Formats: sequence, structure tokens, C-alpha cells
Amino acid sequence: MIKKNLICISCPVGCRLEVEYDKDGIDREKIAVSGNKCPKGIVYGVEEVLSPRRTVTATAAIGSVIRKRLPVKTSAPISKEYIFRLLNDIYNLNLKPPVGIGDTIISNYGNTGVDVVSTMELKK
Ligand code: SF4
Repeated sequence: MIKKNLICISCPVGCRLEVEYDKDGIDREKIAVSGNKCPKGIVYGVEEVLSPRRTVTATAAIGSVIRKRLPVKTSAPISKEYIFRLLNDIYNLNLKPPVGIGDTIISNYGNTGVDVVSTMELKK
């Protein structure tokens, strides 16, 4: 069995989790999570072993008279395997105002169901 120590980032409590799993043929049913104070810790621990995900924040170039870069983020955590390519694609954007908070900048990135959205309004 492999043991991994993690800190749950699902809420500010930050429980210290111990996750045990069998490396050969990782099976969701055989992943044991302890140290969690609520069920979300189990979900987080299992997902960290099977498919770790993160929310991505970045800035994209925008032709605005107010500022040169627009802050953006993913609408949900995205699998770590996409992050490098996603950041590259965000840095290659050249947006035009107006943009509102929550506007979709990239839709359904790589068929993951995750969008990239604006976190700022820029009218001009
Ligand atoms: S296990 Fe529950 S209480 Fe602990 S950090 Fe995760 S979400 Fe918060």
C-alpha cells in the first residue's frame, strides 16, 4: 500500500488527510482516506489520487484603454494534466472589450466541461 499525506483544500479548516491506496490498478473502492472532519475530505482525497484538479487563475491580454490584462479563472477545478496547455492558450488570447464579470472567455476547454471566465468588468 502507498501512503500519501495531503491537506484538504475544500474549506479553510485544512484537515490533514492520510490517503492509502494500492498502486496496482488504482481502484476507487480501495482508496482509504482518514483524518477528514467531513465527507468532503474523502472526495478530495480520492480525487487527488485518481485525477488531481485545480482552479486556474491567470490574466489575458485585452485591448482596453483602462488596463492591458484581464484577470480570468476556470469556472471549476480542472485536471492538472490540462493546466500547462490551458495557461499557454490563455496567454495567447487577445481580447477586446467590453467584457463583464463572469463572461465566458473560453468555453468547455478541451471538452472538460470547464470554462474560462472573466473576473473583472472592462467596458472600454
Ligand atoms: S475534510 Fe471537511 S472540514 Fe476538513 S478541510 Fe476538508 S472540507 Fe474542511
